[in-house]
Amino acid sequence: SGAYAQWQGDKVPAPQMLKLNVALAEELGLDADALAGEAGALVFTGMRAPTGAAPLAMAYAGHQFGGFSPQLGDGRALLLGELIDRFGRRRDLHLKGSGRTPFSRGGDGKAALGPVLREYLIGEAMHALGIPTTRALAAVTTGEKIHRETGAKDGAVLARIASSHLRVGSFQFFAARGDTEMLQKLADYAIARHDPDLVGREGRYLSFLKRVAERQASLVAQWVNIGFVHGVMNTDNMTISGETIDYGPCAFLDSYSPKASFSSIDQQGRYAYGNQPNMAAWNLARLAECLLGLINADDDKAIAEATAVINNFPTLYQAAWLTGVRQKLGLLQDKEGDLALANGFLMTMQGQNVDYTQAFRALAEAVLGNTSPLRALYDDPSKELDGWLAAYFARIGEEAQTPQGRAAEMNATNPLYIPRNHKVEEALQAAEAGDMAPFEALLKVLQTPFTEQPNAESYSLA
Ligand code: AMP
Ligand code: MG
Repeated sequence: SGAYAQWQGDKVPAPQMLKLNVALAEELGLDADALAGEAGALVFTGMRAPTGAAPLAMAYAGHQFGGFSPQLGDGRALLLGELIDRFGRRRDLHLKGSGRTPFSRGGDGKAALGPVLREYLIGEAMHALGIPTTRALAAVTTGEKIHRETGAKDGAVLARIASSHLRVGSFQFFAARGDTEMLQKLADYAIARHDPDLVGREGRYLSFLKRVAERQASLVAQWVNIGFVHGVMNTDNMTISGETIDYGPCAFLDSYSPKASFSSIDQQGRYAYGNQPNMAAWNLARLAECLLGLINADDDKAIAEATAVINNFPTLYQAAWLTGVRQKLGLLQDKEGDLALANGFLMTMQGQNVDYTQAFRALAEAVLGNTSPLRALYDDPSKELDGWLAAYFARIGEEAQTPQGRAAEMNATNPLYIPRNHKVEEALQAAEAGDMAPFEALLKVLQTPFTEQPNAESYSLA
């Protein structure tokens, strides 16, 4: 209580199930057949609350592109409730686009079909890539036209599942109000939910901060290793759970570039590909500020303890990144010099128009003895690549592993298929015109991203 407003979804003219994630419904112990029709459409627009549910809009604050808003909150979203899934895990069922709430400010509370399906697709792609993420349970159309700068759009609601919707901004909401009692309640709630082994322990708030830092270091390292650019890493879009949340202007790299940025609203490149670890640390510092009073009653000690956690983030991040990139390179053992070797590969790609995803698949081909596909990706392979390959072959030569075995392991971590921007756009445009076939085809390919599929070559191309 005090962290939300009880609320319900808008009545909409023609709720209709467009896409139900049957596998996820089953994982949640839901009756997919019952949800596939009108009943599902009513529940997932927010018009009919499930029996026993008391839907609510959550309060949160947040730094958006560096500027603080003390009150954001679910302005177009509702938490329908929680479910215990088949594995005993507690998960949030949340709607996005279900209408105005007390937190809407100037917004209409609605969502357009294109962005709803985009979140569906990219979230499912991330899940299949093994990256922690919220997931789409359903996309429902509302039969309503909504108004956006680009014109009238079909309205839709996304039902999504998260291990929770607690964000850095959830803490900032109470910190901004100086409400220490609520901050402690929230922190204890978050600990009970995400770090139950810390419940009641002395020093738990500092440990909690460390856990969030570990989860975010691991998450952002996975983003960077897969070539993902979130695009809006505001503190209200950074979870406590370590799941990726809120797929807006996100994208996967084509050519490798630390400066890559796909969001038209991110003019400064604040959330550019290579700046994501820095921004994660910045956001964690904002969380740390909220927790200071709980970490230690002595201000100076609290600051020193929290600062040590934040200062350690780059080390955590680098270790997580290095673990991931070793797998990408097919390195079995940890050896000194691997960091330089991994960075060296990225350096070869800079300014050479090299497709990041294809480069790692082509490297596996090189391991099998054919360097042509890799060399063909470069404007000028003789510049740096050839020298780097010599060092790489020397390094893998130190390990007893067959080329076939190594290439297979590399291809199990380096995807062949990612949600290519042009394919995503094509699928969304067709869906907006009433044809879901390209969406379904793309979703199917993205569900097994590491395995070559028949007639799917175009999905692997930039
Ligand atoms: P986001 O950029 O999606 O992370 O949202 C940032 C904030 O803006 C959140 O508080 C949202 O609830 C709110 N918001 C975004 N779009 C709308 C909308 N169409 N109507 C009301 N609130 C919105
Ligand atoms: Mg958000």
